[in-house]
Amino acid sequence: MIEEPTHFAANRLVAVLTAEPLNRFLDYKAPEGGVFMGAFVEVPLGPRKVIGVVWGAGEGKFDASKIRTIRSVLDVTPMRLEMRDFLERVGRYTLTPMNAMLRLATRAPGLANPPSMQRVFALGEGAPDRITDARQRVIDTLTANDGMRFTSKELSDIAGVTPSVIKGLAKQGVVIELETPRDVAYPNLNPDLPPKDLTDDQKTAAAALCAFVATQTYQTTLLKGVTGSGKTEVYLEAVAECLKQGRQALVLIPEIALTVEFIDRIEKRFGHKPAEWHSGVTMTERRRCWRMVGAGKAQVVVGARSALFLPYQNLGLVVVDEEHDTSYKQEEGVFYSARDMAVLRASGCKASVILASATPSLETWVNGKTGKYNRVDLSRRFGAAVMPDMDTIDLREQEMGSNSWISPALAGEVTQGLERGEQSLLFLNRRGYAPITVCRACGEQIGCDFCDARMVEHRFHGHLMCHQCGDTKPMPTQCPSCNEEGKLAAVGPGVERLADEAKERFPDARISVLSSDMSMSARALKQRITEIASGATDIIVGTQLVAKGHNFPLLTCVGVIDADLGLQGGDLRAAERTFQLMRQVAGRAGRAKKKGRAYLQTHQPDHPVIKAIVGGDEEGFWRAEAIARKQAGVPPFGRMAGIIFTGSDAQAVFNVAQMMAQNADALRALGIEIYGPAPAPIARVRGKHRVRMLMKAAKDVPLQGALARWRDQARIPNNVRVSIDIDPQSF
Ligand code: ADP
Ligand code: ZN
Repeated sequence: MIEEPTHFAANRLVAVLTAEPLNRFLDYKAPEGGVFMGAFVEVPLGPRKVIGVVWGAGEGKFDASKIRTIRSVLDVTPMRLEMRDFLERVGRYTLTPMNAMLRLATRAPGLANPPSMQRVFALGEGAPDRITDARQRVIDTLTANDGMRFTSKELSDIAGVTPSVIKGLAKQGVVIELETPRDVAYPNLNPDLPPKDLTDDQKTAAAALCAFVATQTYQTTLLKGVTGSGKTEVYLEAVAECLKQGRQALVLIPEIALTVEFIDRIEKRFGHKPAEWHSGVTMTERRRCWRMVGAGKAQVVVGARSALFLPYQNLGLVVVDEEHDTSYKQEEGVFYSARDMAVLRASGCKASVILASATPSLETWVNGKTGKYNRVDLSRRFGAAVMPDMDTIDLREQEMGSNSWISPALAGEVTQGLERGEQSLLFLNRRGYAPITVCRACGEQIGCDFCDARMVEHRFHGHLMCHQCGDTKPMPTQCPSCNEEGKLAAVGPGVERLADEAKERFPDARISVLSSDMSMSARALKQRITEIASGATDIIVGTQLVAKGHNFPLLTCVGVIDADLGLQGGDLRAAERTFQLMRQVAGRAGRAKKKGRAYLQTHQPDHPVIKAIVGGDEEGFWRAEAIARKQAGVPPFGRMAGIIFTGSDAQAVFNVAQMMAQNADALRALGIEIYGPAPAPIARVRGKHRVRMLMKAAKDVPLQGALARWRDQARIPNNVRVSIDIDPQSF
């Protein structure tokens, strides 16, 4: 797409898109000096000023004398045609009004404000009265990063000194303090630094990816490689190729907790840190990132799904790491899959997409089979590491003590590991101490006041917590229902309770709990992981967090406490999810020289999914899953949408759902099947009642158009909200 920079002269009518919930464009006159298409502008709206983007020529439908003039043109790069196009396409696909789409694309704090200033330090001319180790480190840091300027905090962090050392040096003029705008360019990343010595397999894979990137055309490639095969090393070479082409690269990662580790890897490969975009980044830094990406002065962005909506000037590559991860799906506000939208984004700007995973989503696997996506495989682990042996432990045959979840067989394996000085991981995908708190006198289970969900006991934090809405309350001493004292009991295991059992069973072992709610900072988490990796722990007790991307070279034994957990419920994706999670967890074992073993505790060792996990015939598993999905006519062979009705008044919510189901003949006529309405799996969240409908259609049915007409014709009262979720996660 070649962009003709359309310019509107002063007083010409232009259509401006704002983020206001108006559902239409607003006409304004171009200001003195005119305005470019795509420009970010500030316009008067009633008594307020709001930010918008010039989206096209005005329609002149309104009384010209009443039309107001754009107040100011903001000092940021205008939005490119490809970006406007992308927002329109995502809007059409997800049935999202354009004003809500614009909100996604303007999530930069202080867009209209002039750049704020900050105090930074640079090397001065003065000589120190005396030199200490700490002072020398400050001087070395500034010399080594020639021309770079650091805030007091950055400098003290990097040099490992207290701020007073810097102050001391500043007094003597050894370092000088300057005022600069905060929005400074990110340092140039250097693709020519030497990469690690790649193995022959890795070289072949990297060369294939680089060749795709070098074509500068749209391509999507599935990079499939077992955990530890070096996928990251390999796709970083594709990033290097993209940098050599002078284009920008985006790497999406699924878990913010992993960014610190990941940023360090990029810094080692390319000499500097990339830009970062996720909810853990400060406002000032986010503002800098947004502006510098738009100015072409940030070459690599590492981020969460919303980083797709940054204003890239020349995007050449999007990597979606762990592409199967469910966190790529946003399920509030705009419902979108960052993986799918990455493909859409890249196709609009002649960029490559790399979808990396050891256990790809079925959608991506099918696209790799049909040739819609390229496929590059890394079938061997790096170095001497091999995939672990896997086996089941049949819980029906094990003597399980009461309130015990580690079977004798598994305990035996852990003990052997301890004797050999090797690490074990006990995996349970349940946060907290116990999922249920029940009164032994009256049977009452403590629930959330706002959701149809149980409160989960968190002993580490000393309270009860709802995993739906995050509400907490102190652990009561008496039953809230029958008021009996001391009758409340924990039922079932969470990861904290499992850790208690492990401590009892293995009193001499050093045990670490790794769970996403231990309220650790990203740095502290990285520190903990580094310590574990270097052998400071014998037994790791962990949730999902450990399944994602960490390397624990000393880990040889993995025990999955409840392999059946994800298989309950009627969800058609349950098999896929369980398969992915179990293979990922098992893949944590034996990543260095010693072979690993993984054990799945299960009540149903003959379940086809459990057998597929243990048998390791991955291609066979996906083939069977694909056949099952095809027969059911569900994604990726058919299309689905979830319709979610929410509101505080349960009856009103159900009435609207009922009314809309009755007025859906036009949908049925197109061959769309309608299931429900029925209460959603969790029927009340944050005090809002939820009713759900599912729609299923063949691939060639124009689902979005039909749904949009159906929704727009319905008379929906203000107290009920209707959201449409195209490609829902569960069905
Ligand atoms: P994956 O992303 O497939 O799980 P990684 O890229 O994280 O694999 O690699 C696993 C570990 O092996 C990492 O610590 C990585 O640095 C190391 N590694 C992989 N390939 C090489 C190589 N060619 N040389 C040195 N170390 C490597
Ligand atoms: Zn709740």
